[in-house]
Amino acid sequence: MLNSKIPAGQLELKWTDYKGHCKLVNPANKRKLEIIVIGTGLAGASAAATLGELGYKVKAFCFQDSPRRAHSIAAQGGINAAKNYQNDGDSVFRLFYDTIKGGDYRAREANVHRLAEVSANIIDQCVAQGVPFAREYGGLLSNRSFGGTQVQRTFYAAGQTGQQLLIGAYQQLERQISLGNVTMYSRHEMLDIVMMKDKDKNGNEIGEAKCRGIIARDLITGELERHFGHAVLLCSGGYGNVFYLSTNAMGSNVTAAWKAHRKGAYFGNPCYTQIHPTCIPVSGDHQSKLTLMSESLRNDGRIWVPKKQNDTRKASDIPEEERDYYLERRYPAFGNLVPRDVASRAAKERCDAGYGVGSSKQAVYLDYAAAIVRYGKIECGKLGISNPSAEVIRKHGVDVVKEKYGNLFDMYEKITGENPYEVPMRIYPAVHYTMGGLWVDYELMTSIPGLYALGEANFSDHGANRLGASALMQGLADGYFVIPYTIGNYLADEIATKAVSVDDPAFVQAEKAVRERIEKLMGIKGKQSVESFHKRLGKIMWDKCGMARNEEGLKQAIAEIQQLKKEFWSDVRIPGDIKEMNPELDKANRVADFIELGELMCKDALNRKESCGGHFREESQTEEGEAKRDDSNFQYVSAWEFKGESEWQLHKEELIFDVAKPTQRSYK
Ligand SMILES: Cc1cc2nc3c(=O)[nH]c(=O)nc-3n(C[C@H](O)[C@H](O)[C@H](O)COP(=O)(O)OP(=O)(O)OC[C@H]3O[C@@H](n4cnc5c(N)ncnc54)[C@H](O)[C@@H]3O)c2cc1C
Repeated sequence: MLNSKIPAGQLELKWTDYKGHCKLVNPANKRKLEIIVIGTGLAGASAAATLGELGYKVKAFCFQDSPRRAHSIAAQGGINAAKNYQNDGDSVFRLFYDTIKGGDYRAREANVHRLAEVSANIIDQCVAQGVPFAREYGGLLSNRSFGGTQVQRTFYAAGQTGQQLLIGAYQQLERQISLGNVTMYSRHEMLDIVMMKDKDKNGNEIGEAKCRGIIARDLITGELERHFGHAVLLCSGGYGNVFYLSTNAMGSNVTAAWKAHRKGAYFGNPCYTQIHPTCIPVSGDHQSKLTLMSESLRNDGRIWVPKKQNDTRKASDIPEEERDYYLERRYPAFGNLVPRDVASRAAKERCDAGYGVGSSKQAVYLDYAAAIVRYGKIECGKLGISNPSAEVIRKHGVDVVKEKYGNLFDMYEKITGENPYEVPMRIYPAVHYTMGGLWVDYELMTSIPGLYALGEANFSDHGANRLGASALMQGLADGYFVIPYTIGNYLADEIATKAVSVDDPAFVQAEKAVRERIEKLMGIKGKQSVESFHKRLGKIMWDKCGMARNEEGLKQAIAEIQQLKKEFWSDVRIPGDIKEMNPELDKANRVADFIELGELMCKDALNRKESCGGHFREESQTEEGEAKRDDSNFQYVSAWEFKGESEWQLHKEELIFDVAKPTQRSYK
């Protein structure tokens, strides 16, 4: 039975009440308790630093050469918080409500409310660390809007918010490393968890098996290592790269979560993928990466396509009255700032109907011309320039846009060779984030005692669609403010547990299984590259489990993935050796896990016959082509239990909405 451990009582008081009553571990006992943290992105670095500061003995792992290279560094646009600096009607309740509605009523109320509550603390914490958030002239932190909201609550540091936040968390982590509270293992990849039961005085096993450690591979020497922990935290990020092409960092993968899943951790809502509407379109077969143009650009940019099908004119030759600002037309209340799932589907709909632009016709325009004029006029007004010429207005407008979004515009120009100050950008949706992940309860514990999941690695607070600027908020909420309390509630009962020797048979057995799998992979000596399998998997996933899914396609995808798996395990070619630095071997290991995950994602998508958020089942849409939810049959979290190769059992966590009553989502 799934127990989400949501505290009783009024929604607004649950977290306060929990904190007031959860068990604590005294400082002397904290020093005896060891915690393993997998991942040092925003979720992992904030957790490791905070737990180290609290006095626990922490070991942190990442596969990059430095925690600072975690994928979190790529985050551009910003981080949400209910500070209401703008006095525009924001509140904790409104952030909670927007997030539940934005997630299409497929997230847990209690978790989301807690997230909204701690959001303001995150900003204070980061400012105290010296994170250089953008400020107004008077010194107050500046805000902008992201999709799915009507207030301005997004804090940002130019277009490098993730980088600046990570530097803040990393500094705290480094401090704990130098104090000896955290031991850092870079270039180490966790390849399995180790589980064992407690023993009584007579050495008999008692109770449920708990997570007590990991097997990691030193990626430089290829050696396997065993590490004990009283608890293990997976902060290993999202799995968008299952689609091959995505905006994620190339190294992002599912391996840590997948190994835990195979050992008994349920996987929550695996099919919920976020497709981001503003990415640079695919330009050819040679690509292995897609680039995001931050959602912040939708604050000021206007999205349009020509009103005429197959229009081949240049954007500048298409007069205003022949342009279709389709988001403003279809969703007047939110306009260009509708949530990502809605904006992505609308772009696909226009392109499929023959209104796409660019040579591939798989793109729409994101246009800054109007914003440049609007800002230019304001600046001229501020500077007291009367009757400014169009040229002067433009010059000042460009300066403002440069100040706000300059690095993003530069990036676009470097990649496409087009100057976005002069011509509209071309954008198209791309895979960006995974709302699915390891199922966790209110305390962020997975279905394995002692194993936690934080940040993008868990099935998260975002339901079926994440609002922009909410991932950083969630990762840091989990690491700085939630886990320090909830882990104490578990570890308070572990203070008598002595560190287990890594010579224990459970460790020996786990290491043996990892070694055998690596040897099996290396022993295949087939003909096809790891990359070619990944690419083929990605194509199946994008075509059949991407922006739109249907029953027939999903069934085909499952059969194709099963076939791909057989082929992979009989014909993959991995050059090099085991006992050396071998990135092809690392990748093969990850792709093997992606293949299994892909199958589960399709199974989950097939089971969920409704449309909700990022999961659009073609069979379930309104007459206007909007996603049609089915609350009477699908108001639950799907938590999948691994039962053997290609076999899973579905557990359902019913979602109860006491406060934010589900309605058909409307942004009109
Ligand atoms: C281009 C881009 C822009 C974005 N912009 C924003 C934004 O503006 N606002 C926002 O809120 N969100 C944004 N996001 C989303 C956000 O960046 C991520 O969801 C978030 O940073 C994830 O943080 P994390 O700590 O959970 O994981 P990550 O930052 O992905 O870190 C994962 C860590 O786990 C480690 N790891 C993984 N597997 C293993 C293993 N097996 N063994 C050892 N270590 C392992 C890695 O080394 C790494 O340290 C953006 C995402 C992208 C792709």
